[in-house]
Amino acid sequence: MTPDISVVIPIYNEEEGLALLFERLYPALDALRRSYEVVFVDDGSADRSVAMLREQFQKRPDVTRVVVLARNAGQHMAILAAFQQTRGTYVITLDADLQNPPEEIVRLVQAMDAGADYVGTIRLLRHDVMWRKAASRLMNRIREGTTSIRITDQGCMLRGYHRSVIDAVNHCTEVSTYVPALAYTFARHPVEIEVAHGNRAAGQSKYSLYRLIRLNFDLMTGFSVAPLQFFSMAGSLIALVSLVLVVWLLIRRIVFGPEVEGLFTLFAIAFFLIGVTLMGLGVVGEYVGRIYEQVRQRPRYTVAAVLEEGAAAPPLLGAPTPEPGLAAALPRTQRTPGPVE
Ligand code: UDP
Ligand code: MG
Repeated sequence: MTPDISVVIPIYNEEEGLALLFERLYPALDALRRSYEVVFVDDGSADRSVAMLREQFQKRPDVTRVVVLARNAGQHMAILAAFQQTRGTYVITLDADLQNPPEEIVRLVQAMDAGADYVGTIRLLRHDVMWRKAASRLMNRIREGTTSIRITDQGCMLRGYHRSVIDAVNHCTEVSTYVPALAYTFARHPVEIEVAHGNRAAGQSKYSLYRLIRLNFDLMTGFSVAPLQFFSMAGSLIALVSLVLVVWLLIRRIVFGPEVEGLFTLFAIAFFLIGVTLMGLGVVGEYVGRIYEQVRQRPRYTVAAVLEEGAAAPPLLGAPTPEPGLAAALPRTQRTPGPVE
């Protein structure tokens, strides 16, 4: 049976907050009075998260499915892995740390009922540290200027997508991406609504500064070649100005003879230009690196197990027939490898 709503939640070492999440999520979804499924995707957690997800699956097997990835693939790849497993007409993504209140899901559903196939969100009173908010504003502005993606608040992962958008996303095979932006490119009726935002309920942010920078490069390189164009144009301009300088110096050489003044100015100009060159090389590198990862065609993520009601038991020689539904919950060594994408 196809549920009306699939809720996708990526989990990476969230043992401290999961109990509270379950406590608030299920009543919020029950209150919708619509058929739903929750698809948790464990992104290679090293703590008790998988065990807790399994317990929750056993409590509510009718509406819970758990995708377990073999190792950490990153939040956006984890969400894509879960998308492949969703069946709902509407798919809603949510963070596990309760920064996106589950009680807001109803508002996304209403927007989709009204005809939207993509519901973006803008966080009212964002609860994050100062530098994250400032960096986010800057990145939002750069992206607005360089891509055709119109997302006011790119960081909020509480979003709704219609099945038609999810089907299109499921056909993409890129190795580095940013789910809301990717989905946006397939949306025909995107809308944005304002939602509440809370403090992280427990545990710490899973994003270090380094991972955040990487993620923003994914967004930049994945949806635009504007940075490359900027460097080729800036490079041409600098070359032109340099040419004028060379001609000017040449004339002075002929008219006034050799001069040594301004040596340090020349150094300064040279250092600046070397800096610009290295930065340009770096930008090219960001693209080349991703092309390299893409052409290797390695799996983007590996699904170790899927816990779902009525899952077929893997054939085990000499082993007792496992309980239906708990097939995938067998110890890792007995499990047949899951589908690899
Ligand atoms: N997450 C994930 N894989 C990762 C990092 C994060 O699945 O490699 C999940 C994490 O468990 C959470 C969501 O992505 O549900 C958002 O992460 P977090 O709250 O740490 O990010 P922030 O709110 O600081 O941007
Ligand atoms: Mg968070």
